Amino acid sequence: MRSEGDTWDITTSVGSTALFVAAARALEAQKPDRLSFDPYAELFCRAVGGAWADLLDGKLVDHDLKSTDFGGHFVNFQGARTRYFDAYFQRTADAGARQVVILAAGLDSRAYRLPWPDGTTVFELDRPQVLDFKREVLFRWGAKPRAERREIAVDLRDDWPRALQENGFDPAKPSAWIAEGLLIYLPAAAQEQLFTGIDNLACPGSHAAVEDGSPLPPEVFAAKVEEERAVVAAGDARPFFQLVYNEQCAPATEWFGAHGWTALGTPLVEYLDEVGRPVPEPDSEAGAMFMRNTLVSATKP
Ligand code: SAM
Repeated sequence: MRSEGDTWDITTSVGSTALFVAAARALEAQKPDRLSFDPYAELFCRAVGGAWADLLDGKLVDHDLKSTDFGGHFVNFQGARTRYFDAYFQRTADAGARQVVILAAGLDSRAYRLPWPDGTTVFELDRPQVLDFKREVLFRWGAKPRAERREIAVDLRDDWPRALQENGFDPAKPSAWIAEGLLIYLPAAAQEQLFTGIDNLACPGSHAAVEDGSPLPPEVFAAKVEEERAVVAAGDARPFFQLVYNEQCAPATEWFGAHGWTALGTPLVEYLDEVGRPVPEPDSEAGAMFMRNTLVSATKP
């Protein structure tokens, strides 16, 4: 279970979720009809090795990401999510934003992968050991960022707006923000602080993208945690429910709308349908997760 000030590296606790979504992106990249292409995701999995590499080589058939009821859908989800947010950054670059803030960057490789216009600075915020791992792997492979990249090793439950400005972020210039795969790992108060931090530092003409999720009813969540605890203790699964807070300060479209932004939410299941991927049955494990997920993009007029 989570606690105030808990920490992690790339293979433990919340850090390992960055590896999990990177592995899903690497599996999506292997498909002939992939929705998005992250060539760096594979490098991270191979750097960790073991099951993370075996998974990509088809040697692991009983991994979560290979299961038919959940894994296949989750890989589709990551392919679609990456495509949605890549398109968002194309729009924000076209609109003139030259400051990009990736909150909880994890193993997001957009600084290396997207064709940023000249003069773009990408700020990546995450816990120090996660950023260390990413930098070391990409350095080893000679990867070069396609924008000026600044790492900000910080806990997003702390005073990250100050750290961001100390590293050269200019609130007077338009910015494009992203919180992808993050909100579920923050308590409601830290979510509120995150949204407020974005709103305070984003001048008119700025953009924000958020992956939003509505919580489960508390008794359902408690039951899931209990059930998972036993399976994880037996070594048969990776924790998920034990890492998330199941809290929401407010739906992101409502929060940003109430603060003068124009926000548009696209339910994940609608987006999956739009990009031609199957929508899981609502009562399946993937369906129950996906139904609560919304991809949001917002602009500050
Ligand atoms: N955004 C990336 C992506 O979509 O590939 C990473 C998502 S991963 C599921 C969650 C990330 O959130 C991890 O990299 C983790 O370290 C980061 N994270 C969660 N809570 C955090 C906190 N309080 N401070 C800093 N980083 C945090």
